Amino acid sequence: MSSLDQDQGLHPSCRNKTTVSSDSSDTREPAKQPLQGLKLASHAVLEKAQERGRLKCSKCGGSRMFFCYTCCSLLGVNLQEIPLIKLPVKIDIIKHPNETDGKSTAIHAKILAPNDVTIYTYPCIPDYEKDQVVLVFPGPGAVSVQDMMQCLHDMTDSRSHRSSYEPRRKRLKTEAVQSATHVAEKPESSPDEATGSESGVYPLQRVVFIDSTWNQTNKISTDERLQDLLRVELTTRKTCFWRSQKGKPNTYLATIEAIYYFLKDFREHCLAQEYNGEYDNLLFFYSYLHSVVNKAKTSAGKC
Ligand SMILES: [Zn+2]
Repeated sequence: MSSLDQDQGLHPSCRNKTTVSSDSSDTREPAKQPLQGLKLASHAVLEKAQERGRLKCSKCGGSRMFFCYTCCSLLGVNLQEIPLIKLPVKIDIIKHPNETDGKSTAIHAKILAPNDVTIYTYPCIPDYEKDQVVLVFPGPGAVSVQDMMQCLHDMTDSRSHRSSYEPRRKRLKTEAVQSATHVAEKPESSPDEATGSESGVYPLQRVVFIDSTWNQTNKISTDERLQDLLRVELTTRKTCFWRSQKGKPNTYLATIEAIYYFLKDFREHCLAQEYNGEYDNLLFFYSYLHSVVNKAKTSAGKC
């Protein structure tokens, strides 16, 4: 991924921007650092709710704190007391049926951005238009958020120019070839024009995330309905999830972290807008729970 930072093909104007918070791409930073400096709504409401303790969900009877992850409703906290976030793109989260709801952070996104987030339980997933939807999932062939829009445009182009003598998707990884062919086709095309970063013209309609444990993820990601989607990876971030999973790289993010980092990159690199904490509140619950767990660990002498 780091090599992509140096490429000259896309959005040179965004290349050197630094972000507001300190979660730079240095993966050697301590895992706790990324949650520092976020622009968050006050956690006082969560502190108060925590003092009161768990409540019984009136719908399912489960004992819950802050929200019921089964019913997706707030508990002991009013809607007016928590931040609501408008996202720049729709998010679908595909949840593994065996994933324990209480451990999933997908529900945070649904509660904090209810109009833009939909949670599906596998195998129930929609049919996606492959040139308007991307899957955030690492692996061979996955591209960075910076390169995503260009790749989507290439996919759209290749569909509308079937007679093209050149297989355009070959350009996914080859910036040099990419710019060369663009010159041939659109003589004055600037990188920004080529990726269509003007508001309303970008093809991305929806971003799909998989919410499951490391071991279960493969089953979903290899589902044929997701096979043709462009894959986007976020490899430069390090998780601060407190529930570590065995054998998993520390770049394997909790779902809410992945959504947050994706949107941050999306704003900067695809919308070409400076990031000023607009999506920080996606981590409203996450950062609070993280601090609670850290305090407990510290007092138990574990770290
Ligand atoms: Zn419930």
